Amino acid sequence: MDQVVIVGGGFGGLAAAKALRNTPAEVILIDRTNHHLFQPLLYQVATSVLSPGQIGSPLRMILRNQQNTTVILGEVTGVDKGRKCIFASDADRKDVPVPYDYLILATGATHSYFGHPEFEKYAPGLKNLSDAEAIRNKILQAFEWAEAEEDPSRHRELLTFVLIGAGPSGVEMAGAIAEFVRSMLRSEFRRTDPGSARVVLVDMAPRILGTFSEDLSKAATRRLEKLGVEIRLGHAVDQIDADGIEVGGERIASKTVIWTAGVAPSPAGKWLQAETDRAGRVRVQNDLSVPGHPEIFVVGDTASLDQNGKPLPGVAQVALQQGRYAGELICRRILGKSAPRPFSYFDKGNMAVVGKGFAVLESGKIHVSGLLAWLVWAMIHLLFLATSSLRLSVFLQWIWTYFTGQRGAQLIVEPRIPALGQSATEPPARAAASGK
Ligand SMILES: Cc1cc2nc3c(=O)[nH]c(=O)nc-3n(C[C@H](O)[C@H](O)[C@H](O)COP(=O)(O)OP(=O)(O)OC[C@H]3O[C@@H](n4cnc5c(N)ncnc54)[C@H](O)[C@@H]3O)c2cc1C
Repeated sequence: MDQVVIVGGGFGGLAAAKALRNTPAEVILIDRTNHHLFQPLLYQVATSVLSPGQIGSPLRMILRNQQNTTVILGEVTGVDKGRKCIFASDADRKDVPVPYDYLILATGATHSYFGHPEFEKYAPGLKNLSDAEAIRNKILQAFEWAEAEEDPSRHRELLTFVLIGAGPSGVEMAGAIAEFVRSMLRSEFRRTDPGSARVVLVDMAPRILGTFSEDLSKAATRRLEKLGVEIRLGHAVDQIDADGIEVGGERIASKTVIWTAGVAPSPAGKWLQAETDRAGRVRVQNDLSVPGHPEIFVVGDTASLDQNGKPLPGVAQVALQQGRYAGELICRRILGKSAPRPFSYFDKGNMAVVGKGFAVLESGKIHVSGLLAWLVWAMIHLLFLATSSLRLSVFLQWIWTYFTGQRGAQLIVEPRIPALGQSATEPPARAAASGK
């Protein structure tokens, strides 16, 4: 029986696995995490609306009824195209060869710091659940430090939140943090003035939401400004350190800087030694296979394919549709059926949320902003969550948060409380103030 190996259980890999459910083949799905993650709602975990368990589901559980599919937890480190195997490592074993007849690589993307890896230490990105929890800890810790600080002149620095990158992720985070900060400080903190908090959104582009039309970009800008977000455009960030950032000659003091700017694909191109685009994504043919290797497919954020003269964007819908296509193509081949038509992406449109009850939506000539767009956004996101239990749980949480303002997971996990005499997580502002 043929063996189909899928690397990555994100949108692309999971869709491919599901498309192979009735195929007479052994399907092996390998992921470095044990869960499928709904990345579009990561920012809600980072801002305490949802808890991690509401946007991630164990892959094993999702595929429990699919008898031909085995889920393996492991880190894939390479591909040997000649021997037709991939190499996977886990805590116990290194570079174990796993043979394949067909291979689908759906390993997604990671952060790109545009040649400044040193920024990562001070400006974490948001890509997985640990990132979201780390950012949530950072935001909540900043509130705590401010409340404990008797000198109100130091609150501003402690409560300045900087987002670098004004694409959909940056805009969604900026809106969510602005609302979170004000509502939290007003209702739950006694010594901290909500007016001392700042949220700053920075981008080198001339406008926010560059992939949306100009009218929607303007609508989102107005909305963010109404929420109190300061927008700095037209300059790349020159410096990020423990005490803030430098942009366009201005120093912005901040202890909480979050990177929402760039993404870089997984190293699938290197594993395959295949042609890549400038970003490093594997150039695939119009059936999503790698040139010269009809048995190897690359889908989602780590693949590069042009349609109507433009590269397909790194969004969930592209990954889903490509994963489904690759799975169906392999199924047809195994069953001896004719090849399907070349892959064609059906663009259903783009959306971004800008705070509670407001979103922008662009689908062809339809441009909508406001509550209606937000309702569509909410409905679509609920529909695309991996399981019915997540849909119900997120729906109830949203209703609760919408009407009461109370959040789902306002927890600092592992707050690293230093023992007396140790200096584990000294409030950084103090260190700066004392000239260290
Ligand atoms: C914060 C954020 C917000 C987003 N918001 C939106 C949005 O609103 N709308 C939208 O359409 N898109 C959004 N996206 C983009 C969307 O999530 C991606 O386009 C989509 O996840 C790509 O799917 P994929 O299958 O290619 O990769 P992923 O979904 O990232 O899946 C990759 C999988 O591969 C696994 N993996 C990676 N490397 C290895 C390895 N070496 N070994 C084993 N496993 C490995 C990972 O653990 C992961 O499970 C957002 C992304 C982020 C980060």
